[in-house]
Amino acid sequence: MAIHLFNTLGRKKQAFAPLVPGKVGIYSCGLTVYGRGHIGNFRAFLMADTLRRMFEANHYAVTQVINITDVGHLVGDLDGGEEKLQMMSKKLGESAWDIAAKYTALYFEDMKKFNMLTPHVSPKATDHIAEQITMIEAIEKNGYTYTIADGVYFDTSKLESYGQLSGQSLDEKESGARVSLGDKKNGSDFALWKFAPEGVERQMIWESPWGKGFPGWHIECSAMSEKYLGVPFDIHTGGIDHIAVHHENEIAQTLAARNCLEANFWMHNEFLQIDGGKMSKSLGNTYTVADLETHKIHPLSFRLFILGAHYRTPQNFTWDAVGASHAALGSIRNTVRDLPKPSDADAESMAQFMERVNDDLDTPGALAIFYGVLNHVSMERSVKSATLLKMDEVLGLALEDVVARPLNVPSSVEKLLIDREAARSNKDWAKSDEIRAEIVKLGFDVNDTPAGQKVMEIW
Ligand code: AMP
Ligand code: ZN
Repeated sequence: MAIHLFNTLGRKKQAFAPLVPGKVGIYSCGLTVYGRGHIGNFRAFLMADTLRRMFEANHYAVTQVINITDVGHLVGDLDGGEEKLQMMSKKLGESAWDIAAKYTALYFEDMKKFNMLTPHVSPKATDHIAEQITMIEAIEKNGYTYTIADGVYFDTSKLESYGQLSGQSLDEKESGARVSLGDKKNGSDFALWKFAPEGVERQMIWESPWGKGFPGWHIECSAMSEKYLGVPFDIHTGGIDHIAVHHENEIAQTLAARNCLEANFWMHNEFLQIDGGKMSKSLGNTYTVADLETHKIHPLSFRLFILGAHYRTPQNFTWDAVGASHAALGSIRNTVRDLPKPSDADAESMAQFMERVNDDLDTPGALAIFYGVLNHVSMERSVKSATLLKMDEVLGLALEDVVARPLNVPSSVEKLLIDREAARSNKDWAKSDEIRAEIVKLGFDVNDTPAGQKVMEIW
């Protein structure tokens, strides 16, 4: 079945053709580990995870790389401002290395909670300084660099195609960029290597042919993607905030160093918003997995919430909306528990489902097909189990933990249910509620259905 993806490079949906038949290499910009990843970041990572799952469902061998930015990302993305890890180190009084290690570990824990597949490679920028230096040397040799007081810069005016991703010419960028030029030749020029400022103690610092310092943020991704996927590779993803600067600059670097387009497809997710604006750490309006859990929202419910919007539309986060997704997933889990063991998936439903996900990851459309099967009244029930499980390989809602796995209800709860049934037939609602509270204490809940009491997991 054909796969179509929206390519920011060219701004249209294109039929996907892999560089090597049956294989796909995907690189996604990962977390800057100066804080815990927020759920906006995870919208980007969940998009990458869904993309991988879609390709795997289409029988591609995927190599997925999501990097870890543990040095070089400056406040404000442009070349001014402090480096984020260094800034946090000063603020917290902990070493930049310890901060990076702490938030990298948490990032892996959070990924598991969202049921993300572990990327095949999670390269850290600080482990790839040599590769970055080698690439800067190639850019320098080809005549695209100049050195000023604070670093080695990329001269964007030397690259005719600069601006191809964002669709802006250099002149438009110049007039749009409200950055002070300083000693830079052009406003859009960017640092490849930053010198350690005089008199400022830096913890993350390396020797280089140009002097002691640290790499720019953009060179990290060009160098690490090349190392693990080669150039060109198939697909590069990230949030839309990366189009104009970070990804434009990655493309420029790889072109200047290797005379080759870095990746064929560039896919960008829209923002998770809050009150109509971007959720972002610098604005201080973020939530993390820990906040979801405090609000009794399971991370998988957040995953369902994210799947409910197409990745290229802005999505507004509210507790009510994510609460509705939580209730919906609870109800899905409850329903599939009672299904029998899976037989064979329904081919027609699967074809409809794959048609949706293969159409630029239309997850809302795919979910509609999923619910159609879930609520189907005449589909053979073992076929239903098999179909829902197969769809879940793409959706990632961990339904394998619950399909055809009726709750194991202990006799203590069974006994309370009998007492509660008696209380209810005596219309003793207070007693019925009391007993329910006891049931909840034992880790279960009860739903009153037309067919009588139904025990449920607490979700
Ligand atoms: P960063 O840690 O800033 O390098 O961001 C990691 C990834 O999260 C990048 O792909 C960003 O574009 C993405 N991102 C950041 N904030 C949001 C948001 N509110 N919604 C969706 N993606 C985001
Ligand atoms: Zn990147």
